[in-house]
Amino acid sequence: MNTQNNLVIKGIKNQRTYCMIKPDGVVRGLTGEIIRRIELSGLKIVALKMVKANKDMILKHYPVSDQSWVDKLGDKGLSTFSDLDLDINEFLGMNNKSEVGKSVADALVDYMTSAPIVCMIVEGVQAVDMVRKLAGHTLPFKADMGTIRGDFSVDSPVVANIEGRAIHNLFHTSETIQEAQNEINLWFSDSNEINYTRAGEDIMYSKTY
Ligand code: UDP
Ligand code: MG
Repeated sequence: MNTQNNLVIKGIKNQRTYCMIKPDGVVRGLTGEIIRRIELSGLKIVALKMVKANKDMILKHYPVSDQSWVDKLGDKGLSTFSDLDLDINEFLGMNNKSEVGKSVADALVDYMTSAPIVCMIVEGVQAVDMVRKLAGHTLPFKADMGTIRGDFSVDSPVVANIEGRAIHNLFHTSETIQEAQNEINLWFSDSNEINYTRAGEDIMYSKTY
C-alpha cells in the first residue's frame, strides 16, 4: 500500500477525541457504565483521570470568550422556549441570544465545578463521531434510547433555564477534531503518551473475518 493510503488509514484508525463524565454522571455512580459502553464499542481509552475542576479550567474548556459560541448556546436556549410557545422574556427577563447564552454559560461553570468529573482520551476509527453517537443529543428528551444521555438523563432545558442551572446530561464529548485537539491539550497537557494494542484489534481489522 502506498504511503498516502497508509497515512489516511492511520489518521482514521488513530483518531482521538476528548470526553468527560460530568458531575451528575459521577455522583450518580454511572462512571463504570459509561466507560463500559465506550470500551464495548471497540474504541480504546488511552488516558483517564478523575478531577475536581476549578472555574478557570471550565472557562478554558468552554470557549465562553467566543461570542459566536455563546450566541449558539443562547440560540439553543431560546429555541427550547419557542418550541413550547413560551415567551422566554416572561420567564427569564431577557430575550436575546447573547444574554441567554451568557446566563447558560455561567450556569454551566457552576454545574461543571459542583463535583468531580472523569476525563478521558478515546482513540479509534472516527472516534470523534463515534463517541458523539454513543453520547446522544445534547437535550435528554431528544437523545435516542441506547445512547448515554437517552438512557440515563431526563432533564428539560426550559426547566433548567428557569431554575438558572445547566441541563444535566451526564457526559461531554468533543464535536470536531479541532475541538478534540484543543480539549486534549487542555486536560492532558502534562501526560505522557500511552500506547497499547487492544485485544481484538487484529480481528476488527482483519481481512478474513
Ligand atoms: N447547555 C445548557 N442549556 C442549553 C444548552 C446547553 O445547559 O440551553 C449545556 C449542556 O450541559 C451542554 C453544554 O451546555 O452539554 C454544552 O453545550 P453544547 O451546545 O456544546 O452541547 P454538547 O456538545 O454538550 O452536546
Ligand atoms: Mg459541545
